[in-house]
Amino acid sequence: MEGKPHSKLPDLGTTIFTEMTALANRHGALNLAQGLPDLPPPEALVESAVRALRGGVHQYAPMAGRPDLREWICGHHLARHGHSYSVDDECTIGAGASSLLFAAIQALVHPGDTVVVQSPAYDLYGPAVQLAGGQLCEVPLLDATGQWDLDALLEACTPQVRMVILNTPHNPTGTVCPPGFLDSLAAHLQGTDTIVLSDEVYGPIVHDGRPEVSLAACQGLRDRGLAFGSFGKLLQATGWKIGWAVGPTALTAEIRKVHQYDVFSTGAPLQAALAEFLPTAAGQQHLQGLAGIYQAKRDRLIAGLTGTGWQCTPAEGGFFQVLDARNLIDGDDGHWAREWTRTHGIATIPLSAFCHPPTPQVRLCFAKEDVTLDAAIERLRHIASDHAG
Ligand code: PMP
Ligand code: GLN
Repeated sequence: MEGKPHSKLPDLGTTIFTEMTALANRHGALNLAQGLPDLPPPEALVESAVRALRGGVHQYAPMAGRPDLREWICGHHLARHGHSYSVDDECTIGAGASSLLFAAIQALVHPGDTVVVQSPAYDLYGPAVQLAGGQLCEVPLLDATGQWDLDALLEACTPQVRMVILNTPHNPTGTVCPPGFLDSLAAHLQGTDTIVLSDEVYGPIVHDGRPEVSLAACQGLRDRGLAFGSFGKLLQATGWKIGWAVGPTALTAEIRKVHQYDVFSTGAPLQAALAEFLPTAAGQQHLQGLAGIYQAKRDRLIAGLTGTGWQCTPAEGGFFQVLDARNLIDGDDGHWAREWTRTHGIATIPLSAFCHPPTPQVRLCFAKEDVTLDAAIERLRHIASDHAG
C-alpha cells in the first residue's frame, strides 16, 4: 500500500490470553492460562446485582463512578494504607483497571517521552505507551538472585523519564515488591517530574504473611503517583470489568479527561451491587479471607508437582504460579504451551509472551476450584513423565 500505513500498531497481534483461551476451548482443555477464577463470586454479591437490576438501576452511573462505591474505595485505602484520598477528586471508577491504566498513559505520556517498565511486564503497558507515542525503556524486574532489582530500576530512572510503571503483586512472575523499595524509588525521584503508576490489581492477595505493598502507603510517591485496583480480581468476577484509580487531584483530572470520552461510565447495576455488598460483614470477611484461600491453592498445586520435572519458586502474591520446564524441554515455551493444550488438555501461558528471549517457563492461574487444580496436577504430571522418557 502506498502512503502512510493504516495501522498504528503494525506488529501487534491478538493477546496471548485470548489466543490460549480460544485454543483451550477448541480442544476442551483445562484453562489455567488466562487469569480468570473458576470460583464463583460471593453469593450475596450476586444477589445484590440481581436486586440492582430488578430495582431499576439501568442508566448511566456518574462519570467518575458511584459516590458510595468511591467512598468504599477511599475508605479501603485509608484503612489498609493510611492515606485518605478525596472521594470527589482523587478516585475514579472505570471499565476494569485496564481502562484507567490505558487512560492514564494516553493522558500523561507525550510523544517522545520515556516510560520505564520492568520486564517481564503485563502486556497492556507496552502497546498503550506506543499508541501515546512514548518510548519504552525496559529494565529487568529480577536480579540474578531472583530479587526485585532496585539498582536496575533506579539507574533507568533519569530525571527525563516521564513515567515509571510498577506492578505488585506482579503478573506474570508472582513476585511482590519488597519493603522499602518504593521509599528508595521516592528518594531517587525527588526533584523530578516523573509520574509513577502502580498496578495493584492483586493488592491484598499476598502470601506467607508478607505485607501488602501499595503506593498509597508511600508518602514520597503519593503526590506523583496513581494506584490501580480491580474488583474483578478481588471478587472472582473478572467479567464485571469494574476497576479504580486513586491519585492526587491533578493526575486524576487528567485521567478523567480521557476516561470521559472513552469509557465515560461503566456497569451501573454492578457498581450498585459492589457498593451494597462491600461494606457488609460478608464483604469484609471475603476480602480478609482472600489471601489465605489463594495461598492454600498455591500450596496444593506445588505439593501436587513435587518430585516431578517441574520446578518452581512459590508465588509471593497474586494467583499465578510460574513453572520452570527447563528439565523437560529444550525448545521454546510458546511451542510447548500450545502443544500441551492440544495433546495433554491443559492450557498455560508461555512466559516468552512477556519477555524475550524465550525461556522454558509457563504461567498457571491457580484461582481454581480444588477439583480443577487436581485435574491440572494430573495432566502436568503426565507432561513431566512423557518428557522424562
Ligand atoms: N493489571 C494486571 C497486572 C492484570 O493482571 C490485569 C488483568 N488480569 C489487569 C491489570 C486488568 O484488570 P481488569 O480486568 O480490572 O481490567
Ligand atoms: N490479566 C489477565 C491475565 O493476566 C488477562 C486479561 C486479558 O485477557 N486481557 O491472564
